[in-house]
Amino acid sequence: MSLNDLAIDVPQAAAGAAAAELRAALGARVLLPGDPGFDDARTPWNLAVAQHPFAVALPETAQDVVDVVRAATLAGLRIAPQSTGHAAGALGGADLSHTVLVSLRAMRGVVVDAEARTARVLGGSLWNDVLEAAAPHGLTALHGSAGDVSVVGYSLSGGLSFYARAHGLGVGAVRAVEVVTADGALVRASAEEEPDLFWALRGGSGAFGVVVAIEIDLLPIADVFAGMLLWDATRAAEVSHAWAEWTRTAPETATTALRILHLPPLPQLPPFLSGRSVVVIDGAIEETDAAASALLEPLRALGPEVDTFTRIPAPALIGVHMDPPEPTPSVTWHAMLGELPAAAVDAFVAAAQIPGLFGQELRHVGGAAGRRPVGGGAIASVAGDYLVHSLAMVPVPEAAAAADAAVRAGVAAFDPWRVEALALTFIDAPGADRAAAFGDAWTRLRRLKLTYDPANLFAAARPV
Ligand SMILES: Cc1cc2nc3c(=O)[nH]c(=O)nc-3n(C[C@H](O)[C@H](O)[C@H](O)COP(=O)(O)OP(=O)(O)OC[C@H]3O[C@@H](n4cnc5c(N)ncnc54)[C@H](O)[C@@H]3O)c2cc1C
Repeated sequence: MSLNDLAIDVPQAAAGAAAAELRAALGARVLLPGDPGFDDARTPWNLAVAQHPFAVALPETAQDVVDVVRAATLAGLRIAPQSTGHAAGALGGADLSHTVLVSLRAMRGVVVDAEARTARVLGGSLWNDVLEAAAPHGLTALHGSAGDVSVVGYSLSGGLSFYARAHGLGVGAVRAVEVVTADGALVRASAEEEPDLFWALRGGSGAFGVVVAIEIDLLPIADVFAGMLLWDATRAAEVSHAWAEWTRTAPETATTALRILHLPPLPQLPPFLSGRSVVVIDGAIEETDAAASALLEPLRALGPEVDTFTRIPAPALIGVHMDPPEPTPSVTWHAMLGELPAAAVDAFVAAAQIPGLFGQELRHVGGAAGRRPVGGGAIASVAGDYLVHSLAMVPVPEAAAAADAAVRAGVAAFDPWRVEALALTFIDAPGADRAAAFGDAWTRLRRLKLTYDPANLFAAARPV
C-alpha cells in the first residue's frame, strides 16, 4: 500500500466546518459541490477520469496557495495539486472525498531572461506559454509533444521531448522550484537552497508540495529540422523494421518516434486521413539541412505518402506529433525496452492490431536521456533505448475496462525486451509500479517524503 492510499478521516459533522475554513481562506476561489463552475473545475484534461474532490481551489497567487494549504491542514483535508489533468488517470483510483483539488489553471505566466537563457514559469503554465515567450529571443525549451501539458507536471516527472537524445530529460533543465510545502511555507528550492527538497521535487513533484513557480533553462534553438513521414498501415511491417534498423546508428541529434495509428472517421481530420490506419515516423534532427536530409534518406527511400520534414520555427515542433488539441478520454500503458531486435518489431506490428487500440508507439530514447547528469534529482535519466506506449480511447465509461485491457496487452507483448524501468511522465494509471521509475532513488525519496510531508498531506498523480 502506498502512503497515498491512506485517507485522512474527516468526520461528516466536520465537513461543514472544513468548507467554512476553505471559504474563509479563499472566498470565491474555492468551489464546493453544487457551486456553479464546480463540475467544470473538477474535470481534468483526461475526460476518462471522474474526479470527485471535497472542493476545488483555484488559487491566483502564491499567497492563495499558502492560504489553501493552511486551511486544508486545519480542516483535516488533503491536497491534490493539478495543473491540467493530463495525468489524471494516474490519480484515478484515489478517493478524493477528503481532498481539495488545487487547480493551478489560473496561475499562468512566463518571464524570459534572454541573456541567462532561462524562464521563470508560474505553476499552472503550459508549454505553449513558454514557447510563445521564448521564441522572440531565438530560444526554446525541452517541451514534450503536447502544447497544453503543464511545464511543472511534465518537467518535475522527467519529461521526454524530441530533443531528449541530444539534451536529456526535461527535468535536467529545472534550476529552481518555488513550492508551498506541507507546513504552509513558501520555499525556494535549488542546488544552493534546500538541496534535499530540490532533489526530491525533481521526480517527487506534487507529492512534496504545490509548485507556484519553476525556473528552467532554455535552449538557443530558433529553428529545427523536423516533421513526419506517413504511409498506409499496409506498409507497417516494412516501415517499422526500417525505422528500427535506422535508429541503431542514428546520432543523438535525432530523436524520433514510430507509430501505428487507427484514425477514427472524424470531421476534424483531413479527409485523406479520416478513418484510416497509418504508420508514421516523426521527430526532430538537430543537424544542418543537408546533414539531416542525408540522415533521413533511407526512410524517405520507402516512398512516404506524406513527408513534412523540413526546417521549421522551433515553436512549431510542438505540433509535429499531432496530439489532440482538446481534452480527450484515454487510457495508456507503457514499458521501457533495452533493445529492439527484429522479433520485437514483429511484436510491435502485431500488437497494433489488438482490437480497441487507437495507437501503438515506439519512442527512440537513450543518448543523453539515458545518462544521469551531475547534480540530478530523484529522476534524472531513463533506462532503456526505446519506450513502447499503447493508447486507447474511452468514449464512454463502459469502455474503460476493455480499453485498459487493450493497452496492457499492447505492452505485455514486449515482456522479453523490457528493462526494469518506467518513464514517470508516461505513467497514466494507478496500478503502475512507480518505484520502477526511480530505481535506486526510491528509498531516499520515500525517506524525504516522511521528512517533508509526515502527515501525507499531498496526494499526487504519482505518489511517493
Ligand atoms: C496528449 C499527451 C501528450 C503527452 N506528451 C508527452 C511527451 O511528449 N513527453 C512526456 O514526457 N510526457 C508526455 N505526456 C505526459 C505528461 O507530460 C504528464 O502526464 C504530465 O505529468 C502532465 O502534467 P500536467 O501538469 O499537464 O498534468 P496534471 O495531471 O495536472 O499533473 C500531473 C501531476 O503533476 C503534478 N503537478 C502538476 N502541476 C503541479 C504543480 N503546480 N504543483 C505541484 N504538482 C504539480 C501533480 O502531482 C499532478 O498530479 C503527454 C500526455 C498526454 C495526455
